[in-house]
Amino acid sequence: MKSRKVGIMGGTFDPIHLGHLVIANEVLNIFKLDEIIFIPSGNPPHKNGTKASSQDRYLMATLATLSNNKFTVSDIEIKNPEKSYTLNTIAELINIYTDTEFYFITGADAIINLPNWREPEKLLKLCKFIAVSRPGISKEIVEENIAAIEKNFNGNIELLQAPMLQISSTDIRNRFKNGKSAKYLLPESVEQYIIKNNLYLENNNEL
Ligand code: ATP
Ligand code: MG
Repeated sequence: MKSRKVGIMGGTFDPIHLGHLVIANEVLNIFKLDEIIFIPSGNPPHKNGTKASSQDRYLMATLATLSNNKFTVSDIEIKNPEKSYTLNTIAELINIYTDTEFYFITGADAIINLPNWREPEKLLKLCKFIAVSRPGISKEIVEENIAAIEKNFNGNIELLQAPMLQISSTDIRNRFKNGKSAKYLLPESVEQYIIKNNLYLENNNEL
């Protein structure tokens, strides 16, 4: 048995919101984790993937997690000028944190996409996977997809029912763009950071 249990929560966090924080806290409680590391994805300069810069997304994640001493934020992906693959990130973390068991946390939408990630079979061997319910994706669909992934890639994924919050970063960005309030969907400090730095005012609405 490894002595520490650490959760990894990857995402664009563009911006981080209460949906992310609630599922992280739920996994922390249920699996008795020592820490959860939030890892904002990098933003390779040649790709226009995210709306806010890596630095803004990292700072918003830091503000959002300030009040929880078990939540930390890592710059492991944003400091990489190339696109980061989860497989490489986890391998790097395993080298840094000895005697630690890793739990990779995703929402139901992200787990369904796992077959498109780099080397799913290898990844499933490196850490435990926890998929958390998310509004808009039925339990049956998630279960079907998880069963197929487990069979095809010879791994194990745990499905967890957590409080369902119908919150997405896409909706929050659209609210700022359209001058509508996003209060109570994200931490107040993050809301203030967005307003102060005029984030999410440009570009067209997304779906
Ligand atoms: P976007 O709308 O830009 O895709 P998002 O709200 O999906 O943003 P991401 O940064 O893409 O946020 O998500 C990071 C991780 O958090 C993913 O695994 C995603 O499935 C999960 N997640 C995000 N929001 C929720 C939510 N409300 N409930 C459960 N899981 C969520
Ligand atoms: Mg998403």
